[in-house]
Amino acid sequence: MFELAGKRIWVAGHRGMVGAALVRRLASEDCEVLTADRDGLDLTDQRAVLGWMHNHRPQAVFLAAAKVGGIHANATQPVAFLRDNLLIETAVLTGAESVGVEKLLFLGSSCIYPKQADQPIREEALLTGPLEPTNEWYALAKIAGIKLAQAYRQQYGCDFISAMPTNLYGPGDNYDLQGSHVLPALIRKVHEAKASGSAVSVWGSGSPLREFLYVDDCADACVHLMKHYSGALHINVGSGEEVSILDLTKLVMDVLGYDGVVETDPTKPDGTPRKLLDSSRLEALGWRPKVGLREGVALAYDSFLSGHGRNI
Ligand code: GDP
Repeated sequence: MFELAGKRIWVAGHRGMVGAALVRRLASEDCEVLTADRDGLDLTDQRAVLGWMHNHRPQAVFLAAAKVGGIHANATQPVAFLRDNLLIETAVLTGAESVGVEKLLFLGSSCIYPKQADQPIREEALLTGPLEPTNEWYALAKIAGIKLAQAYRQQYGCDFISAMPTNLYGPGDNYDLQGSHVLPALIRKVHEAKASGSAVSVWGSGSPLREFLYVDDCADACVHLMKHYSGALHINVGSGEEVSILDLTKLVMDVLGYDGVVETDPTKPDGTPRKLLDSSRLEALGWRPKVGLREGVALAYDSFLSGHGRNI
């Protein structure tokens, strides 16, 4: 058991959706939460990160900072998705070893797994086949991050662990239709279609299957792993709740109270056909999600209406 009480804990990326949820979650722990503003610290600048960590001496780190985005953003900004993420994880892990951080949790993503991985996806599927091309830039950077955490553990004995969350949503999400993931996009699209009485346009065929986890559940799982897990293997963080994009659209319409027409847009890509994590390792460690999909969509919509998101 790793105690958080009395410790200085750095949440790197506290303005992002996951980082902000971690800050909310850590408020109920008896610890000091450190954050660094983007204007004051460029996480891609290794020298600056090292200097900041020497000054602030975090004892534990949640690395939630990353360049993230949906299927379109990945396809159009490959350099940012690969380069910025490699730089951020290299800078923070190197700094953590250098200042003697006791424990670090690196956040990856379920898209690191091969496109054709057996479902539900077990942790062992990593690096067993080609990646989904629509997000390989991001995935490669995240795989390098997992490997770097393992390398620090192997070579220097650092207690660095990695968590692989499934598709997340909730307060602080990105609602820009070009750059967002599907759930915030659907919340926005249904909200706007309801206002104008128009059809809801769904990218691709609507048949791909995805799993979703409310971001505060993800933060709770990360804190649980920080306290109760120590090992080289990355740990899947999923809800087990799988839904087709079309059924998800109907659920969002139901929650928002709109009974309009749904149109699919075959000119847009489907991406990987199915992405469901096997989260049995996390379950065996004693963790389960608390927020179901319908409840989570309602909570996310409330936060959208109150302006708690980017590009609203
Ligand atoms: P992925 O999980 O990495 O594929 O990323 P996304 O969350 O962006 O997309 C998930 C699935 O939702 C894909 O099949 C998309 O084609 C589909 N989708 C349907 N409508 C939308 C939309 O408006 N925005 C996004 N980003 N995806 C959509």
